[in-house]
Amino acid sequence: MKHDPPGDAHFSASQIMSSTDGSVGVIIDDDGALTAGILDIMEQGIVQWSADGICKLHNNRIYRVLELSGGDLKVGSSIDDFCKRAVARGEITETTMRYYQGQVTAHQPFTFDLKMPSGRMILTNGRPTRGGGYVVTFTDVTQARRAALELDAAKKEAEEARTRAEEVLAQERARRNEARLLASLDEWLQSCKSLDELFRIVRSFMVKLMPGSAGELYVYSNSRDVLDGVCSWNTETLSSHITPDSCWSLRRGRHYEFTREGMCFVCDHVDEALGADADAADHYLCVPVVAHGDTVGLLHFRFDGLRKAETGIEDPSRFAVSCGEHISMAIANVKLRDELRDQSIRDPLTGLFNRRHFMEAIRRQMGAGATGFGLVSFDADHFKAFNDNHGHDAGDMVLRTIGDTLKERLTAGEISCRIGGEEFAVLVPGADREAAREVAERIRAAIEATQVRYLDKVLPAITISAGVAAWPTDGPDPAAVLRRADEALYRAKDGGRNRVDAAT
Ligand code: GH3
Ligand code: MG
Ligand code: MG
Repeated sequence: MKHDPPGDAHFSASQIMSSTDGSVGVIIDDDGALTAGILDIMEQGIVQWSADGICKLHNNRIYRVLELSGGDLKVGSSIDDFCKRAVARGEITETTMRYYQGQVTAHQPFTFDLKMPSGRMILTNGRPTRGGGYVVTFTDVTQARRAALELDAAKKEAEEARTRAEEVLAQERARRNEARLLASLDEWLQSCKSLDELFRIVRSFMVKLMPGSAGELYVYSNSRDVLDGVCSWNTETLSSHITPDSCWSLRRGRHYEFTREGMCFVCDHVDEALGADADAADHYLCVPVVAHGDTVGLLHFRFDGLRKAETGIEDPSRFAVSCGEHISMAIANVKLRDELRDQSIRDPLTGLFNRRHFMEAIRRQMGAGATGFGLVSFDADHFKAFNDNHGHDAGDMVLRTIGDTLKERLTAGEISCRIGGEEFAVLVPGADREAAREVAERIRAAIEATQVRYLDKVLPAITISAGVAAWPTDGPDPAAVLRRADEALYRAKDGGRNRVDAAT
């Protein structure tokens, strides 16, 4: 057994007796009385073990701190029994026990917590003495540990709240960014004058709104049996047309998102467009373009190469659907505007331009760089009698047929109009009187040769009389030239009808 060197606390068995309250304490001589007094007023329990594991000294406080009774610890009792009790009461875990034994073997300090049966936490600090023993202090740290746990929990909660707040803020920022982008897209779309302009805007906006994505816009043809490819961005795969049944979104009437992970099937139009690369389609979205309840087209997005970080858009699919909605509205508006405009410039019976638009077209011809033009004015012969003989509806059918004949026969740049009743006019840009007369003759012959079917019979051939004049030869302004053409027309009537006369 090792002996503590002089100066270390040292008590012999004769110095031990039971205290009046039954606890075992230490009675020491006058020199030691101060030390024992100090040890007992301390909040901590203290014990000193000799090198061979025998209790040499302890204070009374240790009983309360370690929830011990008088027999559990006294000077002379063994550290092994002390440890066994702690293990038996579950105050120390096996891991801590191994750590403790390792430290003692190496004669090193140790620190660990004991968890008392009552739930109190006791900080245990062992310091080796020079003689090979240990002085161990036991401090009740229940409050401190609980406070630390509560602090940790509060910190964790605060951290979670901060993360949640940041997420909400990021979502809000992304939503505001998306709303700003859509508002800007909307502003441009609303100011579109034509569908061609709208398609150009869609292309350049999509490149900016969703870099890394690719896409195409298809619009139903007038015949509605196919959709024409009208614009694309970041891809060369725009098909000239696709059929409505080649797209799941058009067949199902709602947007269709394809991912490799989902239970999804590739649309035929994607298969056809990508050909051998079809397997490369990982993620795409088809959005029907619906305007005023009518499906007018299809917006197709491919996200294969989309880098989310570049877009700043939280959910590209949702954003793409929003873009589809805005583009749908814009297409509807342009179409509606086109229809209204058409109604204001066209004659509803024949589909030809009306007199007001025709006069504007003539004025435009007289603008800067004008080279002159010819005018043909013509009128159906004996049309009153035709109506009387065959009925007004048959007469309407003839007027419609004259309109169709003009649309078929006139070449690009030539503009025809129904002036009113059974009177028509044609503007022939760049033509002099003679060239205009040739056009008029072509029209006269074509109308005379046209067979008009009404109900189950063929109506008698209709003829026209025409007058031609030219600008600037026959007058300084549209009204004057038209007047000269009309005078020629009256001469044609007087001259026997079904003929062309020119201004003189
Ligand atoms: P002319 O050879 O001298 O031109 O004889 P016309 O009978 O054609 O001449 P008039 O001006 O007397 O008659 C024009 C007729 O055209 C009268 C009217 O019933 C008919 N008409 C005018 N507008 C329409 C229309 O929208 N539909 C039909 N069915 N008839 C029309
Ligand atoms: Mg007339
Ligand atoms: Mg007439």
